[in-house]
Amino acid sequence: MSLLDRHLHIEGSDVSIDPLRPVPRAIITHGHADHARPGHGAVLATADTIAIMQARYGMDCAGSFQPLAYGEPVMLDDVEVTLFPAGHVLGSAQVRLRGRGETVVVTGDYKCLADATAQPFELVRCDTLVTEATFGLPVFQHPKPEAEIARLLKSVADNPARAHLVGAYALGKAQRVMALLRQAGFDRPLYLHGALVELTKLYEARGISLGPTRLAIEAGKDELAGAIVIAPPGALKDRWSRRLPDPVLAMASGWMSIKQRARQSGIELPLVISDHADWNELRQTILDTGAGRIWVTHGREDALVYWCRQQGFEAEPLNLVGYDEAGEGGE
Ligand SMILES: [Zn+2]
Ligand SMILES: [Zn+2]
Repeated sequence: MSLLDRHLHIEGSDVSIDPLRPVPRAIITHGHADHARPGHGAVLATADTIAIMQARYGMDCAGSFQPLAYGEPVMLDDVEVTLFPAGHVLGSAQVRLRGRGETVVVTGDYKCLADATAQPFELVRCDTLVTEATFGLPVFQHPKPEAEIARLLKSVADNPARAHLVGAYALGKAQRVMALLRQAGFDRPLYLHGALVELTKLYEARGISLGPTRLAIEAGKDELAGAIVIAPPGALKDRWSRRLPDPVLAMASGWMSIKQRARQSGIELPLVISDHADWNELRQTILDTGAGRIWVTHGREDALVYWCRQQGFEAEPLNLVGYDEAGEGGE
């Protein structure tokens, strides 16, 4: 019997990784809605991911929770399970399974770049690697996030009478943008849309300092001139944003490298800031794990599968449905 089937279910058990439908036992890689669903019997995840799930879905969104620290093995039946940092969002984990003569690693969503708001990615060697491929095309080569933040700060300096409204997903991206601004020396208050407050507080409570924040809705129009306002992408064009002084619309997303996509959504200042590995990181990680068999999940599977086969690896796309590539899971 092999370890993992193509639906990320441990064979011969009732354990699945990031299952879309409720299962008796689930291992959850991170808190994004396309990976973490409510309604499972038992959830095994990092303490951060459990806290995020409970903040989003309620304290009793699973029958029971078992927090697992990074690097600490636990046995589920005959399979050893260990979580390793994935560098994607706070608490995100790769899952290593060992047993039956095989080592399998499921990356979940990941990135290798340093990020003050997520535990740094750790490379894990394995026989079989199940990798994401959200940005699995050669055109995706993410620029340095510091350079993108510098462009934002230059625009703020050049337009002191305007507000800058930055679209960023509520879990991970918003807090990362805040941390990057602080690293760049921006120490004025950041103005938040109400939908970002709870998770931002959770990050702060779990030790990630993000500096002074205010609720945008409570700020006067004068106060918002020259200010940076952060909101979920869906709220960028809401009635809510009309009270901002002549806002510069910005968006922080890996997808912003597609110019047409930015233009279509009316984004004046696209910021290419991604929480996923780009084409180079994906390929380097595959090589570094030493895996001979590669399964590719959600994203641009074909290009990466093709590349893997060219390298002599056994590779196939998993075509898992339900992972959200353009929504929050995609970023
Ligand atoms: Zn995802
Ligand atoms: Zn994700």
